Amino acid sequence: MSDPYQVLLYYLYTPIENPDKFAKWQTDFCNEHDLKGRIIIAEEGINGTVSGTKDSTEAYIEETLGLLETSKMEFKIDSNNGHAFKKLSVKVRPEIVSLHLSKEQGIKPEEITGERLSPEQFLAEMENEDVLLLDGRNKYESDLGRFKGAICPPVDNFRDFPEWIRENFSDAKDKRILSYCTGGIRCEKLSGFLIKEGFNSVAQLDGGIINYGKDSLAKGKNFDGQCYVFDQRIGVEVNSTNPKVITACRRCEISTQRYKNCAYKPCNLQIFICEKCESEKGRFCDENCQSSACSAK
Ligand SMILES: [Zn+2]
Ligand SMILES: [Zn+2]
Repeated sequence: MSDPYQVLLYYLYTPIENPDKFAKWQTDFCNEHDLKGRIIIAEEGINGTVSGTKDSTEAYIEETLGLLETSKMEFKIDSNNGHAFKKLSVKVRPEIVSLHLSKEQGIKPEEITGERLSPEQFLAEMENEDVLLLDGRNKYESDLGRFKGAICPPVDNFRDFPEWIRENFSDAKDKRILSYCTGGIRCEKLSGFLIKEGFNSVAQLDGGIINYGKDSLAKGKNFDGQCYVFDQRIGVEVNSTNPKVITACRRCEISTQRYKNCAYKPCNLQIFICEKCESEKGRFCDENCQSSACSAK
């Protein structure tokens, strides 16, 4: 029997005239249909991920497309054996993702964005030695999994990209840049930003890593590890061609993809820790966090 629940991931840059009204409608609909997750609405569009039964998620897709009067929004759908979120959060923000640029400097993807590559095109170009693969996500995401050979900026937040690029990446302006992120939404702005900064040849992976993993031709090829997702699953498999685990337990160095937060609350660092170490030593980074947690009791 197939799983009765589904997890949706979606976004669309499209003008939303009254974000508050739209948010209220989304909240009511999700509550009525027991949908949980995170939805961000702005005048520039919608960005969301929700879980619910197959029937509820399908009703949500139909209603949302109807309300936005579009058929352009693509939903990435995973089956799951229950909710992937504990609660529902619907927020109205100035932007659906933000590089924290001033209003004048802000990137509008419908005006400026990198060339969109399908998963097959992306794979074909990736195998060319002259290209630079740029991971458009945070470090804690690329730590769990990334494309072979990708440049993974050590940033904790998307808004840190402009500074990192200006300081560390400016000499790559004449290179062919291929950017990628989870579902494509961040690259729409990041690639636009690169073009504005004077990069000559910028492309982005359309639909992101998630779409790349589902593509029947690319089949996730050359993606090592798992793709970080912002729900209880933490990581999802991508590569069904040449998969490889690239992470190891912080304490015993055995290969593992278990990604947890250090149980010493003031630390809370996200760490790779195997089941055995967690059961024997607790879910801690190291002995310091372990003893601090014990003495705090
Ligand atoms: Zn271990
Ligand atoms: Zn710790």
